[in-house]
Amino acid sequence: EIKDQKFVYDFTEGNKDLKDLLGGKGANLAEMTNLGLPVPPGFTITTEACKVYLDSGEEPPALRDEVSAHLAGLEQTMGKKLGQADNPLLVSVRSGAKFSMPGMMDTVLNIGLSDDSVAGLAKQSGDERFAWDSYRRLIQMFGKTVMGVDGELFEEALDEAKEAKKVTVDTDLDAGDLQKLVKRFKKIVKSEAGREFPQDPREQMDLAIRSVFDSWNTERAKLYRRQERIPGDLGTAVNVCSMVFGNLGPDSGTGVAFTRDPASGHQGVYGDYLQNAQGEDVVAGIRNTVALAELENIDKKSYDQLMQIMETLETHYKDLCDIEFTIERGQLWMLQTRVGKRTAGAAFRIATQLVDQGLIDEAEALQRVNGAQLAQLMFPRFDDGAKAELLGRGIAASPGAAVGKAVFDSYTAVKWSRSGEKVILIRRETNPDDLDGMIAAEGILTSRGGKTSHAAVVARGMGKTCVCGAEELQVDTKRRRMTAGDRVIEEGDVVSIDGSSGKVYLGEVPVVPSPVVEYFEGRMHAGADDADELVGAVHRIMAYADRVRRLRVRANADNAEDALRARRFGAQGIGLCRTEHMFLGERREMVEKLILADHDDERQEALEALLPLQKQDFIELFEAMDGLPVTVRLLDPPLHEFLPDITDLSVRVALAEARHEPHENELRLLQAVHRLHEQNPMLGLRGVRLGLVIPGLFTMQVRAIAEAAAERKNAKGDPRAEIMIPLVGTVQELEIVREEAEAVIAEVEAASGVELKLALGTMIELPRAALTADQIAEAAEFFSFGTNDLTQTVWGFSRDDVEASFFTAYLEKGIFGVSPFETIDKDGVGKLVRDAVAAGRATRPDLKLGVCGEHGGDPESVHFFHEAGLDYVSCSPFRIPVARLEAGRAAA
Ligand code: ADP
Ligand code: MG
Ligand code: MG
Repeated sequence: EIKDQKFVYDFTEGNKDLKDLLGGKGANLAEMTNLGLPVPPGFTITTEACKVYLDSGEEPPALRDEVSAHLAGLEQTMGKKLGQADNPLLVSVRSGAKFSMPGMMDTVLNIGLSDDSVAGLAKQSGDERFAWDSYRRLIQMFGKTVMGVDGELFEEALDEAKEAKKVTVDTDLDAGDLQKLVKRFKKIVKSEAGREFPQDPREQMDLAIRSVFDSWNTERAKLYRRQERIPGDLGTAVNVCSMVFGNLGPDSGTGVAFTRDPASGHQGVYGDYLQNAQGEDVVAGIRNTVALAELENIDKKSYDQLMQIMETLETHYKDLCDIEFTIERGQLWMLQTRVGKRTAGAAFRIATQLVDQGLIDEAEALQRVNGAQLAQLMFPRFDDGAKAELLGRGIAASPGAAVGKAVFDSYTAVKWSRSGEKVILIRRETNPDDLDGMIAAEGILTSRGGKTSHAAVVARGMGKTCVCGAEELQVDTKRRRMTAGDRVIEEGDVVSIDGSSGKVYLGEVPVVPSPVVEYFEGRMHAGADDADELVGAVHRIMAYADRVRRLRVRANADNAEDALRARRFGAQGIGLCRTEHMFLGERREMVEKLILADHDDERQEALEALLPLQKQDFIELFEAMDGLPVTVRLLDPPLHEFLPDITDLSVRVALAEARHEPHENELRLLQAVHRLHEQNPMLGLRGVRLGLVIPGLFTMQVRAIAEAAAERKNAKGDPRAEIMIPLVGTVQELEIVREEAEAVIAEVEAASGVELKLALGTMIELPRAALTADQIAEAAEFFSFGTNDLTQTVWGFSRDDVEASFFTAYLEKGIFGVSPFETIDKDGVGKLVRDAVAAGRATRPDLKLGVCGEHGGDPESVHFFHEAGLDYVSCSPFRIPVARLEAGRAAA
């Protein structure tokens, strides 16, 4: 079958849905070609060819002939041959994977130029300077990316040439200077790579293709993929595209644009343009760009055409697009488009705007946003009212409020952040080598470059705060300092950057809650400002999600205050009330008494003292959650957690002994601590085991719940308590507890004269419970999957230890892409969940099923729980909006 496989597609053959095969860039170049937009002709080598190469170390044998055939076709269309001496066809060889990895992989422009054809290009264009400039760019890019020469060497040579001529920009070098530079560059290549720069155009092209394949596996590409959770085996496609030239004089240029503002979502003209420049000059911030709107004055015809094309693209893709274009002597060419990255706020705004424009429906709008973006919008912002010294203002490239110590290189950013410091990475501009530092930093600040600069694009992708192009700031990386007017900021000085306004402040600026949180809290005031517009969009999207979702969303909350907040955030009940918190603080002494009790009387006394306190907790909670279910988990953690630390206590006893002071109680306590000490407390005396070993403990808790419910009912309330037994491994455990609990409930019902209808159920958090779910369902009216413990016990990972010890290595080795404590392991833990759901429902069709634990608020896990057929997820109050949104997205 490999033999019949097609490895090369002409731009006229592909379309936007072939991203797997042609990569995003190739698929969209084909789509634009077929839309009739001006795209320079070319062809795409598939990701399949790349995979063969990466697996075997060699290109598939059929590839060479296929490339030859497509090249011949291209040469015919263009009426010139690759590298032909008197009239050369030049091409770019461009990487392009399924998911965009900006600047991570290689692209080489001007392939086909050589000592012979450079003269042909000069003749063809009538511009000798241009020809030599293109040739020096080829040797520079090819030398660096294909032949592995240190790019700095070329930069230095270029700087020297400029200095020798006493000019500052490359456009001031003339043909003669550039010709000399080409000589210099070729020498650098020869001495660094050990071979001459290849003069054969086809060899140039083949080597460049291979190097693009190889660039899939550079360290920085791997790091980026891990960060963005892009699978490592997709490979990249390679686009061979005939060159158009933006460096042919003032009526030429190159630019990037967005169909809407990627930071706010507002419609308008957003982008950067650079006259007389080629390709990457714009993004690299080599010279300062002008705003795209300026193009109207420079070249009205091209500007109008570009606006028209942008509208065509938006209507066609039904989304914000970003584009790369080049103008060659007044002729506009489209070089790239894709659905553009955007900030979280813009994602919500754009989704609702597109609904209003009739381009997408509500279900599609839900797919245009996600829980991670919503979570980001819930971060605090800087306090507008706070006094702070403004250092300067740049472009608001990626929102958020970041505070940290100034660092001026990636290495220091990583080093300092490892030792727990918060840092702001400050650079003149960033490049792909800064990736580590950008990941480590709280925020990124650059003094050059626009919304489409490397820093801006990458930061937005990572959801990291970024201010770029703050031109009043002089960044001196060598001396590790930045100056703003007469202010000098040294490495280590604290700065605050506002990615929503672009402002840069000296020192630490206080932060205030986000308007989205204010809205959820019901504290958002009306008024027509930018924040309201965002809140309006969030409100609408949340309404869509609530309308379509099947999963209910509950909160993990232990007290009335959290419960009320959860309710405001849209919680439909409490999925997990942990009672252990109710045993801490001043009640600790009573718990100690309970644990230390030698006989029943003593124990009973301790329990009776705890009962009214527990009851009061529940009354408040049931009142806060009136009308909604509240699942109360009986005491779970190992007992020793309620006793003093063994070392502290030993010291106390020893001191008292030495001082001949009375220490009877301490001694007794110490003995108890020793008695209860376990090697593996998480696998020890906890959960239902405690209830079975300490007589009266669980019945006291059940009584408190029942009496609280009865009291609420008598007060005309609507308490809906559910009693949950933790850490059950076999139905026998549950049956014993159940019998005792039912007796207590019956007593309370008789005494109070109200019918309580308390549900009794269990957590499924041990593999054995999941495996015997059919039996357990006989005694349980509901299951709540405790996926934290279940993950811990299924994998045999100690949650408290592994994240710090070997998880980093596991992530680096790709054993998992994300910690199974963060996103549910679908194949292992998830399989147990699915099987237990089926087995439980087979026994008891109306079994209520939920999940509590961190996974309940994790977007990917929520989708899994939806598919597994659970009734609800439960998560911390702050994650509730995220869970609601993702439950909606899963159902839409
Ligand atoms: P990246 O994926 O890093 O954006 P690209 O393949 O898009 O890399 O190319 C880098 C730069 O070169 C872009 O600015 C692009 O517009 C420009 N470029 C690529 N191919 C051509 C071409 N055939 N003619 C002119 N410019 C090109
Ligand atoms: Mg590009
Ligand atoms: Mg547990």
